[in-house]
Amino acid sequence: MYMNGYRCFACTTVQPVDFAGFLCPVCGGNLDITYDYTSATKEIAGGFGDGRRQLFRYQALLPVRKFATPFPLRVGGTPLYQASRLGKQAGLRSLYLKDETCNPSASFKDRASAVVIRRAIDNGAGIVSAASTGNAGSSLACLTAAHGLRSVIFVPETAPPAKLTQSLAYGARVLAVRGNYDDAFDLCLAASEEFGWFNRSTGFNPFTREGKKTCAFEIWEDLAGRIPDRVVVPSGDGNMLSGIWKGWTDLKAAGLIRHLPKIDCAQSTASDAICRTVRRLRDSDKAEMNWSQVSVDEVRASTLADSISVNRPRDGLAAVQAIFQSGGEAVAVTDEEILKAIPEMAGSTGVFPEPAAAAPWAAVKQMVKDEIIRPGELVVCIVSGSGLKDAARAGEAIGAPQVIDPSLAAVRDALCLEIQP
Ligand SMILES: *Cc1c(COP(=O)(O)O)cnc(C)c1O
Ligand SMILES: [Zn+2]
Repeated sequence: MYMNGYRCFACTTVQPVDFAGFLCPVCGGNLDITYDYTSATKEIAGGFGDGRRQLFRYQALLPVRKFATPFPLRVGGTPLYQASRLGKQAGLRSLYLKDETCNPSASFKDRASAVVIRRAIDNGAGIVSAASTGNAGSSLACLTAAHGLRSVIFVPETAPPAKLTQSLAYGARVLAVRGNYDDAFDLCLAASEEFGWFNRSTGFNPFTREGKKTCAFEIWEDLAGRIPDRVVVPSGDGNMLSGIWKGWTDLKAAGLIRHLPKIDCAQSTASDAICRTVRRLRDSDKAEMNWSQVSVDEVRASTLADSISVNRPRDGLAAVQAIFQSGGEAVAVTDEEILKAIPEMAGSTGVFPEPAAAAPWAAVKQMVKDEIIRPGELVVCIVSGSGLKDAARAGEAIGAPQVIDPSLAAVRDALCLEIQP
C-alpha cells in the first residue's frame, strides 16, 4: 500500500498514515489521502496492466492492502459508450457516457462502498453505517451483504421507494428519518460515534473519494490516451466530483498523463449550493484563493433529483477546489430540464438514467447554448445511477402507455396503421 498520510483540504495540515480519525483534528475539515507516488509509479509504470475489469486492479493507487481473496462482486469496470446520436442533438461530435448503472447496486456509489468496506474489514468493524439520499445506502447494503457484514442506513423518509426496498432486500437495517438528508447525516454521525460503527457517510469518510476516483482511471484507459476536454459530474455533496478530479490528478502525479480535463459540476437550480459558491468566489476576483477562509454556501434543497438534493454539501470545499483547479464550470439546470433529459438520453443511447444522472446531459446542452462547450470538444457525462431506481419520477415526465383492447383492430387504430386488404 502506497498511501502515506492525510492532508486537510482547508488548512493543509497533514496527518500520518496511522491517524485514526476521519476529519482534520486542527480545523474539522475533510481529509485528502496522500500517496508515495514515486513508489506507486514504479509498480504501475506504463499502465495498470491487465486483469479482470474491476476497481481493485488499481490497488497501487488505493488506500487498501492487497487482499488474498477477490472482492465478491464486480465493482467498476463499467462501459464507456460513444453517444453520437445524443451528442448530435446538441451539435457535439464526441460525446461519451460513462455508464455507472452497470455497478452491482446500479449506481456509482459502489466504487466508494467497495473501498470503505475493505478499510472496515481491516479495522475489524462488524457494522458499517451510512447516511444516504438512497444510493449510498443501497450500495452499502449490497456490498456488506456480499461480505456477510451488517449495515445500518439512515435515509430521509422521502427517499424513492425502490432504493429503500433494494436496501431492505439486501438485509440492511434501514432507518427512515423524519427529516431531510442533512438530518439523516447528522444522526448517522452521532449514532456511529455512540455505538462504534464504521461510518461510510460521504464527505466525512475520506476513503469514499478514493473509490470514486477509479472512474477517471477507467475513462482514461478506455479513451486509449486521449484526455477528455470535460468530464461532467452530477453533484450534491460534491464527493463524486472531487473523486473524479482526484483520479485525473493521480494519473498525472504517477506520470501517466501530462494534462488534465476540466471537471464541470451539474446541479439542479433547486439544489445549487456548489454552483452558488463557485459564482460567488469567481465574482470576488481574488488572484489567489485562501481555501482555509472559504465557506461553502448552504441552500434549502427541493429538487426532485433526490440523489443531488443536499442543503449543505459535505464535500463542498474539495469540489469547489476541483472546479477551480481544473478550470471547469458549475452549471445549474431546472428540474424540468433534468426530467426532459431522461427520455432524450434513454431514447438516443439505450442508457436509462435516474434524474440526478440526467443532469449532466441537461448541463451539457446548456453549456453548448452558452458557447462554453465548442462542438469539437470531447465530453464525458457520468451516468451515475439507473432510471429504475426512481422510475416513478421519470414517469411523470414520460407519461403512461396507451391502453388498448386485445385486438388487431385496436393496434391498427392506436398506431394509425392503414387497414390491410
Ligand atoms: C450520490 C449521487 C450523486 C451525487 O454525488 P455527490 O458525491 O453527492 O455529489 C449523483 N448521482 C447519483 C445517482 C448519486 O447516487
Ligand atoms: Zn484542517
